[in-house]
Amino acid sequence: MIISCEKCGTQFEVRKNEIPKEGRNVQCGVCNATWFQKPFEKNKKNNSNHVSFHYFANFFLLCLILVSFVGIMETFRDSLLYNFPELDQYYKFVEMIIDRAFEEIKNLFSSFSI
Ligand SMILES: [Zn+2]
Repeated sequence: MIISCEKCGTQFEVRKNEIPKEGRNVQCGVCNATWFQKPFEKNKKNNSNHVSFHYFANFFLLCLILVSFVGIMETFRDSLLYNFPELDQYYKFVEMIIDRAFEEIKNLFSSFSI
Protein backbone atom coordinates (compact mmCIF):
# COMPACT_ATOMS: atom_id res chain seq x y z
CA MET A 1 0.00 0.00 0.00
CA ILE A 2 1.06 3.60 -0.46
CA ILE A 3 0.82 6.07 2.39
CA SER A 4 1.60 9.73 2.12
CA CYS A 5 3.04 12.09 4.69
CA GLU A 6 0.36 14.44 5.98
CA LYS A 7 2.86 17.29 6.20
CA CYS A 8 5.05 17.19 3.11
CA GLY A 9 3.05 14.82 0.94
CA THR A 10 5.91 12.42 0.28
CA GLN A 11 4.58 8.99 -0.59
CA PHE A 12 5.96 5.82 0.92
CA GLU A 13 5.44 2.24 -0.09
CA VAL A 14 4.76 0.07 2.96
CA ARG A 15 3.89 -3.58 3.23
CA LYS A 16 0.39 -4.38 4.43
CA ASN A 17 1.69 -6.28 7.47
CA GLU A 18 3.70 -3.24 8.60
CA ILE A 19 0.48 -1.49 9.60
CA PRO A 20 -1.47 -3.54 12.17
CA LYS A 21 -5.25 -3.63 12.24
CA GLU A 22 -5.42 -1.08 15.02
CA GLY A 23 -3.06 1.25 13.15
CA ARG A 24 0.26 2.66 14.36
CA ASN A 25 2.35 5.78 14.51
CA VAL A 26 4.64 6.30 11.57
CA GLN A 27 7.33 8.87 10.91
CA CYS A 28 8.13 10.55 7.63
CA GLY A 29 11.73 9.93 6.58
CA VAL A 30 11.86 13.26 4.76
CA CYS A 31 10.39 15.85 7.15
CA ASN A 32 10.30 13.74 10.35
CA ALA A 33 6.60 14.44 10.86
CA THR A 34 4.76 11.70 12.75
CA TRP A 35 1.17 10.69 12.34
CA PHE A 36 -1.14 7.87 13.20
CA GLN A 37 -1.55 5.63 10.20
CA LYS A 38 -4.71 3.62 9.94
CA PRO A 39 -4.45 0.27 8.17
CA PHE A 40 -5.17 -0.17 4.51
CA GLU A 41 -8.91 0.00 4.06
CA LYS A 42 -10.35 -3.06 2.44
CA ASN A 43 -13.67 -1.30 2.03
CA LYS A 44 -12.53 0.53 -1.08
CA LYS A 45 -11.71 -2.68 -2.92
CA ASN A 46 -14.81 -4.43 -1.65
CA ASN A 47 -16.94 -1.53 -2.75
CA SER A 48 -15.59 -1.58 -6.29
CA ASN A 49 -16.07 -5.36 -6.45
CA HIS A 50 -19.55 -4.88 -5.14
CA VAL A 51 -20.26 -2.22 -7.75
CA SER A 52 -18.95 -4.30 -10.65
CA PHE A 53 -20.97 -7.28 -9.43
CA HIS A 54 -23.95 -4.97 -9.19
CA TYR A 55 -23.52 -3.96 -12.83
CA PHE A 56 -22.98 -7.54 -13.92
CA ALA A 57 -26.13 -8.64 -12.09
CA ASN A 58 -28.12 -5.84 -13.69
CA PHE A 59 -26.77 -6.69 -17.11
CA PHE A 60 -27.60 -10.35 -16.61
CA LEU A 61 -31.11 -9.46 -15.45
CA LEU A 62 -31.59 -7.21 -18.46
CA CYS A 63 -30.48 -10.01 -20.82
CA LEU A 64 -32.80 -12.45 -19.07
CA ILE A 65 -35.75 -10.07 -19.42
CA LEU A 66 -34.88 -9.44 -23.07
CA VAL A 67 -34.58 -13.16 -23.86
CA SER A 68 -37.82 -13.90 -22.00
CA PHE A 69 -39.57 -11.12 -23.89
CA VAL A 70 -38.32 -12.33 -27.27
CA GLY A 71 -39.21 -15.90 -26.29
CA ILE A 72 -42.76 -14.95 -25.34
CA MET A 73 -43.14 -12.91 -28.53
CA GLU A 74 -41.91 -15.88 -30.59
CA THR A 75 -44.21 -18.31 -28.77
CA PHE A 76 -47.33 -16.27 -29.50
CA ARG A 77 -46.10 -15.01 -32.84
CA ASP A 78 -48.99 -16.26 -34.97
CA SER A 79 -51.81 -15.04 -32.73
CA LEU A 80 -50.01 -11.77 -32.02
CA LEU A 81 -49.48 -11.11 -35.73
CA TYR A 82 -53.11 -11.99 -36.39
CA ASN A 83 -54.34 -9.54 -33.76
CA PHE A 84 -51.68 -6.86 -34.22
CA PRO A 85 -50.45 -6.88 -37.82
CA GLU A 86 -48.25 -3.85 -37.09
CA LEU A 87 -46.03 -6.14 -34.94
CA ASP A 88 -44.65 -7.35 -38.26
CA GLN A 89 -42.16 -4.50 -37.97
CA TYR A 90 -40.99 -5.82 -34.61
CA TYR A 91 -40.51 -9.36 -35.92
CA LYS A 92 -38.58 -8.14 -38.95
CA PHE A 93 -36.37 -6.13 -36.61
CA VAL A 94 -35.76 -9.06 -34.25
CA GLU A 95 -35.04 -11.40 -37.17
CA MET A 96 -32.53 -8.91 -38.52
CA ILE A 97 -30.82 -8.69 -35.11
CA ILE A 98 -30.73 -12.48 -34.71
CA ASP A 99 -29.44 -12.94 -38.27
CA ARG A 100 -26.70 -10.43 -37.66
CA ALA A 101 -25.79 -12.05 -34.33
CA PHE A 102 -25.52 -15.46 -36.00
CA GLU A 103 -23.47 -13.95 -38.80
CA GLU A 104 -21.09 -12.45 -36.23
CA ILE A 105 -20.79 -15.76 -34.37
CA LYS A 106 -20.19 -17.62 -37.65
CA ASN A 107 -17.48 -15.14 -38.60
CA LEU A 108 -15.93 -15.50 -35.16
CA PHE A 109 -15.83 -19.29 -35.42
CA SER A 110 -14.52 -19.30 -38.99
CA SER A 111 -11.71 -16.95 -38.01
CA PHE A 112 -10.76 -19.33 -35.19
CA SER A 113 -10.88 -22.52 -37.26
CA ILE A 114 -8.39 -21.27 -39.90
ZN1 LIG B 1 6.99 14.36 5.44
